[in-house]
Amino acid sequence: MSQHDYRSNDIFTPDVKFTPWWWEAAPRPDHSEVPLPSSIDVAIVGSGYAGLSAALTLARAGRSVAVLEAGDPGFGASSRSGGMIGSGHRMGTKNFSGLTEELGQDRAIALLREGTNALDFATGLIEQENLECEFKRVGRFRAACRLKDYDSMGKDIDLLRRKVGIEVDMVPASESSQEVTTEHYFGGCVFHQHGGLHAGLYQLGLLDRARAAGAVICGQAEVRRIDGQKGAFKLFTARGNVQARDVIVATNGYTGPLTPQFRKRLIPIASYIIATEPIGEEAVRRVIPSRRMIVETRSRHCYYRPSPDGQRILFGGRASLRPIDPRTSGLRLHRFMTRLFPSLTDVRVSHSWTGNIAFARDHLTHIGVHDGIHYTLACNGSGVAMAPYAGHKAAMKLMGSPEGQTAFDEFDFRPYPLYGGRPWFLPFVDWFYRARDAWEERNDN
Ligand SMILES: Cc1cc2nc3c(=O)[nH]c(=O)nc-3n(C[C@H](O)[C@H](O)[C@H](O)COP(=O)(O)OP(=O)(O)OC[C@H]3O[C@@H](n4cnc5c(N)ncnc54)[C@H](O)[C@@H]3O)c2cc1C
Repeated sequence: MSQHDYRSNDIFTPDVKFTPWWWEAAPRPDHSEVPLPSSIDVAIVGSGYAGLSAALTLARAGRSVAVLEAGDPGFGASSRSGGMIGSGHRMGTKNFSGLTEELGQDRAIALLREGTNALDFATGLIEQENLECEFKRVGRFRAACRLKDYDSMGKDIDLLRRKVGIEVDMVPASESSQEVTTEHYFGGCVFHQHGGLHAGLYQLGLLDRARAAGAVICGQAEVRRIDGQKGAFKLFTARGNVQARDVIVATNGYTGPLTPQFRKRLIPIASYIIATEPIGEEAVRRVIPSRRMIVETRSRHCYYRPSPDGQRILFGGRASLRPIDPRTSGLRLHRFMTRLFPSLTDVRVSHSWTGNIAFARDHLTHIGVHDGIHYTLACNGSGVAMAPYAGHKAAMKLMGSPEGQTAFDEFDFRPYPLYGGRPWFLPFVDWFYRARDAWEERNDN
């Protein structure tokens, strides 16, 4: 039991910041004065991993490109993520067995391979482009919060290894303290190819390479309207107008009224995260001896990791499905963290922040064209590898290359029923998941 009174704020350092810890080493660059080109080949809306990767591919292929960003470059999830890079062990709402039942084995395998393709693409980019983003392939421990989660992992593991080429091993409960020192888990599995990186430096690295290839990155240039059609679009931005032959929308969890056609196909959900004050490598290792990325199985899961310098813990989770301020989310996440690790009770929070992710109805990434406008959307909470891969594929599709094809193409990007883009139902969903998690925990213990 934590000794803190969670109505008070004593868990924060006196100089706590409500901005991402990543921004300390990778401050958001000011591109508000970068002139808007009047006419270009491709306008990309959004400067996260997806938009920048699309820009890099297109600029390298000789297209003139402008990335138009509402805030400073990387304002969205890409400079706020947990920096856990992986293959997405599930593609869609189901695990491998469930997918196989629904789609047949070949299509299930093709979908899962998109996860490993994304990981290979993103790590290849880091290596080839020499992105200095503190990437380390330390592996990911997927912690089973319930016995039935552990059993279900066990059913899939052999197929994942043999058919998809994922390097994964089960870790029984008796050995899970080598991964993470809490008694709350029923074992889990380790994905050896996954790793961690510095989310802010990764985004800045992509930005730098896209710019060096010739793309123009314009900050404070919210796109407010898009008129026209393929071959002749006009984008009205906060800083003036741009003519473009083509447009790619890469706004993910920040998709707004600009594109109602995409907004009704995405549910934006806030993810919250804290950084502890520095506690030293030894103390971090006492909590996460394996130094891996840790992700839980429950619906309102927590995810956590050592910071790249090994000095602190970054701890994220669904503190709420409704928007709450980062002080409240910081208090909640600290409580979740100390429930797992009572030894961290007196460790304070130096940073607490939030960002939006976006879920499609089928929990798949969607890359395509709608009324002449290209899009790369819905990373479903796992975009560190998938978003740059999808951005690259969107760029290839735009250029008419068969390399733009993915296994996602055969799945329609369907709107959610009774939904226009305002997720009025999230408080109820939040309540439902809380109740379900609590009930299942009680039954398992
Ligand atoms: C707290 C948190 C932790 C996460 N942790 C992980 C993790 O550990 N591993 C993982 O794989 N994934 C993680 N994710 C998810 C991952 O960060 C995202 O999937 C990924 O960053 C999406 O990239 P993107 O380029 O598609 O979108 P974003 O990076 O969100 O970029 C979209 C951009 O579009 C801009 N925009 C929106 N509308 C307009 C407009 N009208 N005009 C101009 N610009 C506009 C926004 O300002 C924003 O900058 C996390 C996300 C969050 C929020």
